[in-house]
Amino acid sequence: MTPAFEALQKQLKQLPGLGYRSAERIALHLLVEKPARLPELVAALNAAAKSVARCGTCGNLAEGGECSVCADLKRDAGVVCVVETVPDLVAIERSGAFRGRYHVLHGKLSPIHGVGPGALNLAPLVSRMQSGEIRELILALSNDIEGEATCHFLLERVPPEGMKVSRIGFGLPSGAGVLYADSVTLKSALEARRDFK
Ligand SMILES: [Zn+2]
Repeated sequence: MTPAFEALQKQLKQLPGLGYRSAERIALHLLVEKPARLPELVAALNAAAKSVARCGTCGNLAEGGECSVCADLKRDAGVVCVVETVPDLVAIERSGAFRGRYHVLHGKLSPIHGVGPGALNLAPLVSRMQSGEIRELILALSNDIEGEATCHFLLERVPPEGMKVSRIGFGLPSGAGVLYADSVTLKSALEARRDFK
């Protein structure tokens, strides 16, 4: 194969869920079987790279300011579900079980991996909590040691009165997160949330 083919295959192989064989198949598909698709794919990648950024309020993916969840006035701004990642948010949205808003931390505290509070999307959450518009904060972080530590860290920053803090109940083995739960499990985990104090 050619150097450009190999470079494309190498890039594809680094994507999640793709091994050497799948990367080769996709590269062949784009260059040999359906070459007309390639410019469309390049255009879509360029457009996404240029216009998709973090929502300044919640950290979700957004184009031009607020994300679609924050901009949706029909959603309850008083209930905020805190998640580790955008894929976690997507999983909860797919379950259809939640009509409040979100806050994406973009990680969880992990001293072992050198992730301290400064690496997380915390400052906008603290100002949202201080604004007084949040009635309930639902912590949907993974039920491992790092997720627990992050929950306790957040609890220390919650204003003492007037805000309920709950933790979603998992029907999952220890260590598993929101992302790997199916919609039914997520729905019952949200319904079975418990006070976290
Ligand atoms: Zn948002």
